[in-house]
Amino acid sequence: MGGFCSPEEEAIVEDKLGRRIDYLRISVTDRCNLRCLYCMPAEGVPSISHGEILSYEEIIHFVHVGAQLGIRRLRLTGGEPLVRGGLTDLIRGLKAIPGIEELSLTSNGTLLAAQAGKLKAAGLDRINISLDTLDKEKYAAITRCDCLGDAWAGIQAALEAGLAPVKINTVALRGINGDELADIAALTLKYPLHVRFIEVMPLGDDVDWACRHLLPLTEVKTRVETVGKLVPATVTGSGPAQVYRFAGGLGTVGFIAALSHNFCQHCNRLRLTADGKLKPCLASDLEVDVKGPLRSGADEEELQALYRRALALKPSRHRLEQYQEHQRLMNQIGG
Ligand code: SAM
Ligand code: SF4
Repeated sequence: MGGFCSPEEEAIVEDKLGRRIDYLRISVTDRCNLRCLYCMPAEGVPSISHGEILSYEEIIHFVHVGAQLGIRRLRLTGGEPLVRGGLTDLIRGLKAIPGIEELSLTSNGTLLAAQAGKLKAAGLDRINISLDTLDKEKYAAITRCDCLGDAWAGIQAALEAGLAPVKINTVALRGINGDELADIAALTLKYPLHVRFIEVMPLGDDVDWACRHLLPLTEVKTRVETVGKLVPATVTGSGPAQVYRFAGGLGTVGFIAALSHNFCQHCNRLRLTADGKLKPCLASDLEVDVKGPLRSGADEEELQALYRRALALKPSRHRLEQYQEHQRLMNQIGG
């Protein structure tokens, strides 16, 4: 493999708007053990066959090339990444790539309790765990799986394993968890957890459902402020979140308003889907095939050209608020 550009050098991966792309989100599977209302239909979606999914070796090879272009931070996602076997091998391989500085994971946490220590030992730096409610019945209704206890055990295991910071992703849903948002934010008073409230995006199989349940984050913030005054704060990898803390809080509270406050001008990421497509934007159907070239023996220069092609396709901003239909559901993009 050739040399990689050091952080001091200008990243080659900069798009036409000057956005420096140093972050790659990698979906390792489209499969999931849950069926969240805003993400997947109850019956699931047809799974991609094993052979259609990028192997860990292919992912590592492609990231190696990305690191030469300035990719520095990686996030593994899905589907549910913990349903794919041997994830520690992938983590070890990715962390060994020169230039890769940070590796994080997004998970629903339900399979995490048994794996957190091994993931940390393999090189995982930090984790985001999705949790939309503290109520057992409501959790079962939202995820279509009665497993709040497992998710909570996963959160505890992540804290014990030192996967710091442990972030909690909470999708705010009008009429579903709106009455609980203050309680979820209050977790940061008791635990070193970093809660991030996210507006529901029309990327599931039922766009009308998402529109009906959208709770703008200005409203979420008002509800959260009933716990106490929020003061500006920072947390590692806060990206597009506005971050605060309560006085005496052990963790922070963040707000990610993808719909009501567009932050595309600061977008620093590309996405690699489990079936080997490089996506310049979560909300766009544009994608560049990576699997074909990888499997037909493309050389380093040809693989670099795929990153550049994806960058050239990166839209200046998303049009999520126009609620158009998309080819892929969230579990297939890697949220
Ligand atoms: N299965 C893992 C999980 O749930 O954390 C990782 C994949 S999931 C697609 C990644 C994140 O996307 C989760 O935090 C989930 O809540 C969020 N998500 C999924 N569908 C969404 C939607 N329609 N709007 C907003 N966030 C969504
Ligand atoms: Fe699965 Fe995550 Fe989608 Fe829920 S949000 S169905 S846990 S991929």
